[in-house]
Amino acid sequence: CIKRSGIMKTLLLSKNDIDKAAEIIKNGGVVAMPTETVYGLAADALNGEAVAKIFKAKGRPMDNPLIVHISDIRQIDMLVSEFPDKAKILAEKFWPGPLTIVLPKSNIIPNEVSAGLSTVAIRFPSHPVAHELIAKSSPIAAPSANLSGSPSPTTVRHVLSDMDGRIDAIIDGGDCDVGVESTVITLADEIPTLLRPGGITLEQLRAEIGEVKVHPAVLKSLENGMTAASPGMKYKHYSPKAKVILLRGSEQAFCEYIKANSDDKTAVLCYEEEKNSFKNNIVLGKKDDDAAHAHRLFTCLREADEKGYTCVYAHCPKPEGIGLAVYNRILRAAAFNVIDV
Ligand code: AMP
Ligand code: MG
Repeated sequence: CIKRSGIMKTLLLSKNDIDKAAEIIKNGGVVAMPTETVYGLAADALNGEAVAKIFKAKGRPMDNPLIVHISDIRQIDMLVSEFPDKAKILAEKFWPGPLTIVLPKSNIIPNEVSAGLSTVAIRFPSHPVAHELIAKSSPIAAPSANLSGSPSPTTVRHVLSDMDGRIDAIIDGGDCDVGVESTVITLADEIPTLLRPGGITLEQLRAEIGEVKVHPAVLKSLENGMTAASPGMKYKHYSPKAKVILLRGSEQAFCEYIKANSDDKTAVLCYEEEKNSFKNNIVLGKKDDDAAHAHRLFTCLREADEKGYTCVYAHCPKPEGIGLAVYNRILRAAAFNVIDV
């Protein structure tokens, strides 16, 4: 990469430049890549120094481990020390796809990746660009390609806004499909536990392997003294600059509360069907289209900042299917600020 007055020049690559991106990764650089969930910030997972650059670019706390992305199930043998039957069932059913499985790690995983834990999180993405980049370089460590704490990027424009000048390159792969990060399940404990809901739903996981516990921090803030099964649970997440407030209650109560408590700087994250009730509307999708809500959520949160709003009201999502993932993200974006209306 070229340095310009101390700031890195970030190359904008297309999906025809994957060889170039793979070279950058193999040489210890950092490249933003599209995946089916959100854009990821990729470095060689087996090179601790390269992985450390990801933390620096994001401003991510060093105790928050990264997910290792693979492009061939055979790569798993060198990355983990155990691959239990339930993990094999899930891998067979949902990989490639938006599922991350936490397993006991092998000793080739650098400390920077696992943040000192005895486990490693593994995912096999389905996006063709991510797949080709991993196949041409190495297993890749990749968190979401946003500044730590802000909404995850689902378009190349979002990545540029957070990462231009901080990383070597960005591959433009169009908009991400799912829109929220992968589901994270740990199989390193006795009972499989959902640590983060995502594109593969809790219902789908239970249909394959039976009992799956939901970690209490999925829908609550970590209480004092509660250990973070997944270190990412501790941190502020997904937040735009605008203050987000969730309103729980009927549609009529939602509407009345907003009419009584908003001004020109207040936006409403609402459904298509009700958009005419709110002047400053940001539309999440049709009311019952949970997949559209997941797809649009981070774009909508970023849009609130781009339009200069200082406060955003939103509905409390239904905690079912992919709605559980939307709920988990928006609750954190709102710093757990929920008002019963
Ligand atoms: P992100 O990189 O932003 O997609 O976030 C990855 C999430 O996976 C974070 O919440 C991490 O704390 C979590 N994670 C990564 N590795 C592990 C692990 N070994 N055990 C538990 N959680 C993990
Ligand atoms: Mg993230």
